Amino acid sequence: MSHLRKYPDQEGFFGKFGGSFIPPELEPHMAAIRDAYLRISRSAPFINELKHIRKHFQGRPTPVAYAGNLSEKLGGAAIYLKREDLNHTGAHKLNHCMGEALLAKHMGKTKLIAETGAGQHGVALATAAAYFGMECEIHMGEVDIAKEHPNVTRMKLLGATIVPVGFGGRTLKEAVDSAFMSYLKDPETTMYAIGSVVGPHPFPMMVRDFQSVMGFEAREQFAEITGRALPDHVVACVGGGSNAMGIFAGFIDDEDVALHGVEPHGTGTELGQHAATISYGEEGIIHGFKCLMLKDAEGNPAPVHSIASGLDYPGVGPEHSFLHESGRVSYAAVSDEETLNAFYALGRYEGVIPALESAHALAHAMKLAKDRPAGECILVNVSGRGDKDIDYVVENFGDGAGRPLI
Ligand SMILES: *Cc1c(COP(=O)(O)O)cnc(C)c1O
Repeated sequence: MSHLRKYPDQEGFFGKFGGSFIPPELEPHMAAIRDAYLRISRSAPFINELKHIRKHFQGRPTPVAYAGNLSEKLGGAAIYLKREDLNHTGAHKLNHCMGEALLAKHMGKTKLIAETGAGQHGVALATAAAYFGMECEIHMGEVDIAKEHPNVTRMKLLGATIVPVGFGGRTLKEAVDSAFMSYLKDPETTMYAIGSVVGPHPFPMMVRDFQSVMGFEAREQFAEITGRALPDHVVACVGGGSNAMGIFAGFIDDEDVALHGVEPHGTGTELGQHAATISYGEEGIIHGFKCLMLKDAEGNPAPVHSIASGLDYPGVGPEHSFLHESGRVSYAAVSDEETLNAFYALGRYEGVIPALESAHALAHAMKLAKDRPAGECILVNVSGRGDKDIDYVVENFGDGAGRPLI
């Protein structure tokens, strides 16, 4: 049986990870979303409407292209880019937001609630809400609000209400807690639209399925432009893990394709210096699901750091936890420094400024390309564009001029 059909099981488990560990009052609402998803998302009207949206609103399919200049400089395997930065709103997150919002519409709901880290999920959901004429409430940590000003402005222009979150570390983890509390006040008419392949069942499955459009497109496009059936490697960054699961979905049953998930190693190995959950984490429960997570001395979610706000989450999708344990996907971590080099390199050599999140995937792909022979092909998911990051990067690290990048 194909991986995507086999996992998760009926209870939402990927091996021992996933499931649903939620307050009893939330259970009927999650069950309703799950049942509606399983029924509605397979109906012809839903499928056709989503196809129409993908093409005429989002601008899909996004291209796959050979990064020739960069590959030649590295002198090893060839790097190909899946240009998800060209998806409407500039990142992959709209893929599942349009799906979740369409489901909410079919369920008769009128309001969408979510958390956001870098602001990408908030922008994507606010976009979906505007498209469907729904209300939208976005919870965001104060630290991220200060750092991601353009996305905050975008959300406001799209008509969303922003709820600043001022407790704890004031970043993504607290924003999730805050959004969940707000959703619990009125789960009948609102839909909680999570930002990644995390949370209780059915979210990890639903978000993966909506994101799989990237993997299925990339598989066909890669064959079309190379004349080869499959790439040797597929590389994606992992925060919660949605862009990675989306692109992996197209290749997961092909055992010959090596899949690589890339985590943020930040500035060091101490707790609080990175967010490399799979590399350093242990089993635990966070936000209603079981996964590998980073814990502090008391066993609570640890403080995390990444140069990319979209990656600083102490948990990770249950399917990634499972794919790590089964060995089907290899997980590596790259530092802020390596990420910056990749960020500058893609702009300078390929004319594409990637999101700092995506630059993690690229940094790992660049190392891999140097190690692998010229005949091999590496497909990298450029999950988003870097416009949101340019001021932060240039103010703190300069424009990269004179810096050796390769
Ligand atoms: C949010 C975000 C990520 C991280 O989220 P995943 O669920 O791990 O994909 C990666 N890249 C971009 C551009 C993002 O906005």
